[in-house]
Amino acid sequence: MATLFSRDVQVAVLASGSSGNCTYIGDGHAGVLVDCGISAKQVLARLDRLGLGDAPIDAVLVTHEHGDHVGGARVLCDRLHKRLGRWVPFLMTRGTRDALRDRTTPAAVELVSAGGVVELKHLRLDPFSVPHDVADPVAWRVQLGGHQVGVITDLGRPTTLVQDKLRSLSIAVLEFNHDFELLMGGAYPWHLKQRIRSSHGHLSNDQAGELLERGLGESLRHLVLAHLSDENNQPARALAAATGALRRAGASDRVQVQVAEQRTPLAPIRLPAVDW
Ligand SMILES: [Zn+2]
Ligand SMILES: [Zn+2]
Repeated sequence: MATLFSRDVQVAVLASGSSGNCTYIGDGHAGVLVDCGISAKQVLARLDRLGLGDAPIDAVLVTHEHGDHVGGARVLCDRLHKRLGRWVPFLMTRGTRDALRDRTTPAAVELVSAGGVVELKHLRLDPFSVPHDVADPVAWRVQLGGHQVGVITDLGRPTTLVQDKLRSLSIAVLEFNHDFELLMGGAYPWHLKQRIRSSHGHLSNDQAGELLERGLGESLRHLVLAHLSDENNQPARALAAATGALRRAGASDRVQVQVAEQRTPLAPIRLPAVDW
């Protein structure tokens, strides 16, 4: 068994930020994309560039209906159908599906419920609720190779549920959206500042740092700081919040930290599978 399936878990953040989000999670035998907020062309080009052009894509896991998460969905669905000769399902909640515009709705939708685990090949896909200002948003945890990988962005506040999911992860892609001072002192109109900082907006560096400190588990090895605002954050500030939290939690030595980017994909993170 072990030799047949002994492949590394690979996680590649293809794009992250308010202009588009997409992350690949796979192990050579099965794989998923989380969100497709960049163009289908960019998704496929970036996978190619990272050496993942032939990596399996068995589903696309959608978090919510904002354009930076679904903008490329319809076209990507058609491209994957053409490329693979079969429909790749786009998994989303009913609230998300109902809120999608026709021009972004993919041809192959499968409905899921927050809290309802989906088995796909040997992957376990776990959508869970997050507080965000849309119909029925979720974040996703994916279990493969004995690891849990989580993509947790677009949430206005840390919740106990999010903290519990975070505790189980080996690889966490976690939102560090804005620096509170930069946001409040910046050029955004007042209503937008209020929306971002609200309990259904986005996590600040400080909120994400506190969540990390409280929700850090023994298994965490890689942390990717995600969905940074171009306007209201700086990578150095997000990094300082994250490394401070890891230091306070006594985990600086075992967790590697990277900042995801909008324009350039991160090299795939790899972890040996530990259990089949
Ligand atoms: Zn977003
Ligand atoms: Zn959003």
